Amino acid sequence: MKARILLVDDDPLQRRVLRKWLSLDAYDLIEAQDGTTAWQEARRQPPDLIISDWMMPGMDGLDLCRLLRSNPSTCHCYVILLTARDDSTSLVAGLETGADEFLTKPIDGTSLRARVKAGLRQYQHRSTLQAANAQLESLALTDALTGAGNRRALDIALETLTQAGPGGSLSALVIDFDYFKKVNDTYGHQVGDEVLIGFVPRIRDHLRTGDQVFRYGGEEFVVVLPKTDAQHAGIIANRVCEAVRATPLQTSRGPIRLTVSIGAAQIHSSDDLPGASLLARADKALYEAKKDGRDCVVVDNQSVGAGTPELPNTVSTHYWGYYLFDLEGRAYRLAQVLLAYHQLTVVDEVTLRSNQPCDLTHLTQLYSFLCSQLSPERLKRMRIYAAQTPEAMNNPVACALRSVPLKQLLLQSEVWAPLEPTDATHLFSVFQPIFSLKDGNCFGHEALIRGRAKNGTTVSAARVFEYIESTGFIHEFDELARIIHLDSIDRLQPSGYIFMNLIPGGPEQSAREIPRLLNALALLDRPLNQFVLEVTTSHQQTVEQLHSSLRLYREAGFTLALDDLGASSVPLSSLIDLDPAFAKIDRSLIDHIDTDPDRQHLVRAITELAHSRSIQVIAEGIERENEVVFCRNLGIELGQGFLLGSPNEQPYVNTHAVARGAEGAESALPVLQP
Ligand code: GH3
Ligand code: MG
Ligand code: MG
Repeated sequence: MKARILLVDDDPLQRRVLRKWLSLDAYDLIEAQDGTTAWQEARRQPPDLIISDWMMPGMDGLDLCRLLRSNPSTCHCYVILLTARDDSTSLVAGLETGADEFLTKPIDGTSLRARVKAGLRQYQHRSTLQAANAQLESLALTDALTGAGNRRALDIALETLTQAGPGGSLSALVIDFDYFKKVNDTYGHQVGDEVLIGFVPRIRDHLRTGDQVFRYGGEEFVVVLPKTDAQHAGIIANRVCEAVRATPLQTSRGPIRLTVSIGAAQIHSSDDLPGASLLARADKALYEAKKDGRDCVVVDNQSVGAGTPELPNTVSTHYWGYYLFDLEGRAYRLAQVLLAYHQLTVVDEVTLRSNQPCDLTHLTQLYSFLCSQLSPERLKRMRIYAAQTPEAMNNPVACALRSVPLKQLLLQSEVWAPLEPTDATHLFSVFQPIFSLKDGNCFGHEALIRGRAKNGTTVSAARVFEYIESTGFIHEFDELARIIHLDSIDRLQPSGYIFMNLIPGGPEQSAREIPRLLNALALLDRPLNQFVLEVTTSHQQTVEQLHSSLRLYREAGFTLALDDLGASSVPLSSLIDLDPAFAKIDRSLIDHIDTDPDRQHLVRAITELAHSRSIQVIAEGIERENEVVFCRNLGIELGQGFLLGSPNEQPYVNTHAVARGAEGAESALPVLQP
């Protein structure tokens, strides 16, 4: 088969030259005119070798290289970067991103052909090694006798599934043969082995795609059932149990009739070590099944009804979703913000639940508030998950709190953005400080959204957005993120400017959001001029649509910043057409700017353009001292990045602003250039 080579260059002439030389050898040559197209092509069908120009508009050769290396399907291809430079710093930067080889322009055809041949040999070695590694990896995770996953594979599967965040509950079955010793004693160990081998395909027939079988040890197996609660796990376990009982297993000594005992359990939201606790509970249930006389299923009783209960349907809504709050006093305030924010007309259903022994006054307060705000016509149904304990009957809210096995209070209505239908992810804000590069004072914060999965791990904004993007509700979610920020800001009162992200929808959608946002700010008693909307854009939008949306925000009094300049799809021309107050330069341009002349040119040009229009510039992603020095010398006013301050749940305490704040809250804000 011919080797597949991808030629990437924005200069068609350069691609012609490459093609001319390489067509002297028998290769399958494909071309791409920029990094993004090359990446799409590489994802579609991974090439063996890529020759890419270094400097290209949009995604450059280094970024392409980074992407290729980060993806399992493309990480092995051989990458040659074409560069006009030969200084060692650039070469090191190239090597660090994973380039294999460099060719300096102008290209010498003989040397090009020789290097491509050498590169393809390397690629062959890599592929062979990779295949061997994959085989080893698979062997290391497979039980040699039965072909099921082994103990290590089980650990990995549980680890992955319990860290996956949203996705519903997870259950496991522990299956143990009854009186297996007798098989060995009667027919010999060899036949015992045959039974174990035949058992695995037998139970697989009764499982769903996605369910996984592992040999736990001896004649004991574990089945992991993703997105399954204990009740359903019990149903599947019974199916397996009946199937084993009904049909004897075939062996070289004829069919042998056997039975199994099964323990089933579900993960609990309160588990510290979810995988281990799950197995321990299922194991305990198995022990009960053995005690109950074998050939039966026992479902761990703590698991039933734990985790994610059935959620009420809100069928009549055009879209739906819910948002979770802690009961730490903020539910009432947040509900108030949400109701004002959305100027709710109709709420299909509000559901209140909690299981934590917490201060009842919060929920009582919230309950009365909702009743006062939402007349029966507006609130069609309120569900309170209530206990039937006699002493609680006099207070429906109190009774709800005492009984329900849920950690959080859940409000559900038609207007909230659609999150995964589980109570797995709790969204919260973090604040990254932005500093003046001139005097080192904190200028304000960028509010960023994070998720917290059920098991306590933090889910990055990228992951949350990735999920939301797949639901098609990106703008609704984007708006929800701002509500969550407003709530955090209300509680934590960060000083200085607050930058919040905005992915504007079309003008109609913006026109709908703006009054909601203004309402919420008024309710929270926050000056409008404290907020800056940081604009990024979704790819579907034309520049005209983007600009007409953004003009609406500006006319309503919002301050705008253009985000990720130089890397995102917000065009540089927006600096001219929109007159934002701030220009944020993307981290990819700031990275090692002190040593990279090309980045310097680009950033200098953006900064000069911005300054000529009195736009303040913010350098993003500052991670090194030299970058600060360089940006400061360029006249860039503001900076943020890990070197200066990481995103944190607590806002940065701005001593400067606090000192000025004594003269009055408003004056604590830095003054904007007109
Ligand atoms: P119980 O119903 O209480 O589970 O009875 P049991 O006889 O199955 O008892 P136990 O689970 O304690 O014993 C398991 C037996 O399975 C012991 C061991 O000889 C046998 N065994 C474990 N691994 C293998 C194996 O790989 N091959 C064979 N042939 N037998 C095995
Ligand atoms: Mg046994
Ligand atoms: Mg056993």
